[in-house]
Amino acid sequence: MDNCLFCKIVNGIIPSDKVYEDELVYAFNDINPSAPTHILIIPKKHILSLEDLQLEDQDLGGHMLLVAKQIAREQGLAKAGYRLVSNCGELGGQEVPHLHFHLLGGRKMNWPAG
Ligand code: 5GP
Ligand code: ZN
Repeated sequence: MDNCLFCKIVNGIIPSDKVYEDELVYAFNDINPSAPTHILIIPKKHILSLEDLQLEDQDLGGHMLLVAKQIAREQGLAKAGYRLVSNCGELGGQEVPHLHFHLLGGRKMNWPAG
């Protein structure tokens, strides 16, 4: 998608602070972190949101979760714990319309979420 911010990041048109990359997934530090560790994990394929994930994306979705777990371990978050969240749509608070998981760690998370 030509006009998508995160597609531009995947393609290197907009610079990012890369944390992880493989053939399906890209992960980078959030530009405006809301925790000591705040990493965005996105599919290279342009998918609008979790709501647009299809049956054909089943392996991709599972892969993203395992990548998130691996990054959490590599970042030293696994023992203390962390939060993985995907904002979906307007009421979910999604601002960038390209599917992403936020990996948040390094502080105590609040619940219920705001
Ligand atoms: P959302 O609100 O869509 O769930 O999350 C979007 C996230 O993308 C926000 O946490 C925001 O700080 C982050 N973000 C927006 N623009 C950029 C950017 O250009 N670079 C990086 N690294 N993060 C961005
Ligand atoms: Zn995109």
